[in-house]
Amino acid sequence: MEVKINENRLVLMTGDITEQSTDAIVNAANGSLLGGGGVDGAIHRAAGKGLLEACKKIRSDRLDGNHLPTGEAVMTDGYHLPARHVIHTVGPIWRKGEDHQEEMLANCYSNSLRLADDEGLSSISFPSISTGVYGYPVEEASIVAIRTLVAYLGQCSFGEVRMVLFSKGDCQVYEHVVNQMKKEL
Ligand code: ADP
Repeated sequence: MEVKINENRLVLMTGDITEQSTDAIVNAANGSLLGGGGVDGAIHRAAGKGLLEACKKIRSDRLDGNHLPTGEAVMTDGYHLPARHVIHTVGPIWRKGEDHQEEMLANCYSNSLRLADDEGLSSISFPSISTGVYGYPVEEASIVAIRTLVAYLGQCSFGEVRMVLFSKGDCQVYEHVVNQMKKEL
């Protein structure tokens, strides 16, 4: 499914994010930036060793050896991926009833998109951040994701944002949110 916001396109699709040839793909990383399971592992496997080296360099040169804080985003090249760049962001780990997780999840989307926009990119693919191992319920995460993307795209001329969902079920959840919000678009 596809919707227009300003001159921007928001696309929802089922697929594998490592196969997307948008200018950037977003990695749902952990703060160490050293790779992990899920989409993070898939991106590192497909990109090859250069990606890990680039992440280590960001840790040492830009983060003083510390973890990337939740909600923030950094960019590397894409190495062997079809996408030229990878934007690494750290989603919140779901804890029922805890404050600020919505805000931190929203920051992942807005900071990644802003970084892509500032770097002059015009297309980006997102996975469903935090809804795998980090346990954020997809019904709630999808509302935060779509609301944040729609708000951002409503104020800029970027290009194309793809939500690349790994399962049909997740895609249907995101599509439902977009259908609900269509009246506001
Ligand atoms: P997190 O730790 O942020 O929860 P995960 O990688 O565990 O990250 O899961 C985030 C989402 O990414 C899940 O919906 C998972 O199904 C999905 N996912 C896993 N592999 C891929 C892939 N290759 N392409 C797109 N989405 C993927």
